[in-house]
Amino acid sequence: MKEILRIRTTKRTSIVNITPYIREILKRSGVREGLCLVYVPHTTASVFINEGADPDVLKDIVYTLEKLIPWEDPSYEHAEGNSAAHIKSAIIGNSRIVPISEGNLLLGTWESVFLAEFDGPRERKVVVKIFPDVD
Ligand code: ZN
Repeated sequence: MKEILRIRTTKRTSIVNITPYIREILKRSGVREGLCLVYVPHTTASVFINEGADPDVLKDIVYTLEKLIPWEDPSYEHAEGNSAAHIKSAIIGNSRIVPISEGNLLLGTWESVFLAEFDGPRERKVVVKIFPDVD
């Protein structure tokens, strides 16, 4: 099964914890064992998994990305002016796969799944596809 989340971001850089929405989709699917693909079909956005307990971790990730990949750089050539967002998206990647076990996402205790948008605010689609194990 496949569902599409629509997430509205609020700032140029927004990181949204989408784990609760993915868990709802998984619950509705009834799948007990398998894989869950989370994919974002946008060139300035990413999906990643990291600490969901302490929001300071996300602040530090955003801070470091901004430091490494500044918004302004006279050497950027892309005319739209959002090269930094494309670069961050490309480096982090646009999908993750999470194992499903006993009807739950097999995330670590402190892990959550995040949508990152680097050229917002925008409304973004996130594709969540559940692959049941085939016996
Ligand atoms: Zn662009």
